[in-house]
Amino acid sequence: MNTVIKNITLIDGTGREPIEGAVVVIREGKVSYAGLASEWSNVGTGEVIELDLQGQYVLPGLIDCHVHLSGSGEADSQFYAPAGSMALKILKNAQRNLAAGITTVRDLGGWSELEYDVRRAIQRSEFAGPRMCLAGRFISITEAGAEYYSGMYRVADGVDEVRKAVREQVKNGADVIKMGVTGAVLVESGVPGITHFNEDEVCALVEEANKFGKRVAAHAHGIDGIRKAVQAGINTLEHGTYLYQDPLLIVHMAQHGIFLVPTLKVGWDIIHANDSTIPLWIMDKNKATQGEAASSLKLAYEAGVPIAMGSDVGTPLNFHGENMLEVYWMEQAGMSAMDALVSATGNAARALGWDSWLGTLEERKVADLIVYNKNPLEDLRVLADKTNLQFVMKDGMIAACHTGHHLPGQLFAKNYLSIEM
Ligand SMILES: [Zn+2]
Repeated sequence: MNTVIKNITLIDGTGREPIEGAVVVIREGKVSYAGLASEWSNVGTGEVIELDLQGQYVLPGLIDCHVHLSGSGEADSQFYAPAGSMALKILKNAQRNLAAGITTVRDLGGWSELEYDVRRAIQRSEFAGPRMCLAGRFISITEAGAEYYSGMYRVADGVDEVRKAVREQVKNGADVIKMGVTGAVLVESGVPGITHFNEDEVCALVEEANKFGKRVAAHAHGIDGIRKAVQAGINTLEHGTYLYQDPLLIVHMAQHGIFLVPTLKVGWDIIHANDSTIPLWIMDKNKATQGEAASSLKLAYEAGVPIAMGSDVGTPLNFHGENMLEVYWMEQAGMSAMDALVSATGNAARALGWDSWLGTLEERKVADLIVYNKNPLEDLRVLADKTNLQFVMKDGMIAACHTGHHLPGQLFAKNYLSIEM
């Protein structure tokens, strides 16, 4: 089957200017052409379904590089649920992402390996859901967070335990290894500026992960921990709050293509909500770090550090489905609207190491795409407003749309979702 999506403005995720009068042609779940309609000749053989979108905006499916499917935005950041309930919670949160146009998520801290079961069920088409790049457990030193987030952490002290912890994640099916190099904001006794793992442990983790062909995502706020992680050769720096304190390290990240995933939405949601159900320590710690996180993003962006979008959804009042407000906050911190958008498409796929087949609307990439009735480049908040989102395609099939749609039945995936979910 060939699908021709015509009469659109194409924003292809590479960073190039939007193309008016464009067409996207899909064959066997992959893009076979994306560009000016006038430069496209013919569709080849077989059944053809045409969709005239009357000037609407087509983008690649969005990629969120930092989510926690095990959290639903609980005010006190207590994610715990019994195993059966947790599996359902993970599935529901995964679906909320897909229904909002996030066709791929990278989960950087799951819960008791239940996210792997959910991923398998989605891969078998038993349920609709996004693509998942999974880290399994968050590898950490002995610290209070390990009890606070009991199903998420894997405590490892010393080089041998660190290696074993990596091997366990790989055995379970991890695509990426997550390590906590410094203290955390969302752990009451955690001090974000303090380094947790020692240099030998960080290096051993990166070496062990790379041995299995896995990339490393490092949670780090304080500059000493950021330095240890970057110098050990991590792939993505999560949060990077105090990165601005070392301009030479920023240059090093740019030269080595080490991504910054700034997660600004976490702090802004908490600060702006002014919600009395949020524990005071969570409010105070976010107020103390938010300005620094934004400055670090600005400096890194200006120095040419690749930036990938990660919303950290799941954290207090940071709800699955509202992920895309992160690109708005990235723009507010100094990025151009187009670069902020690329951070959630082409650049995000590069951060995952999946860019050869995902992230942009170009020939041979998977046909994950979303359609909006407004131009998101004029106001990035359009992306987080489901009334503007028309439908979501994954592998060339409609995976989510509004109720009362007028779309051809043959284009629907099994178990498709309502955008309103
Ligand atoms: Zn996180």
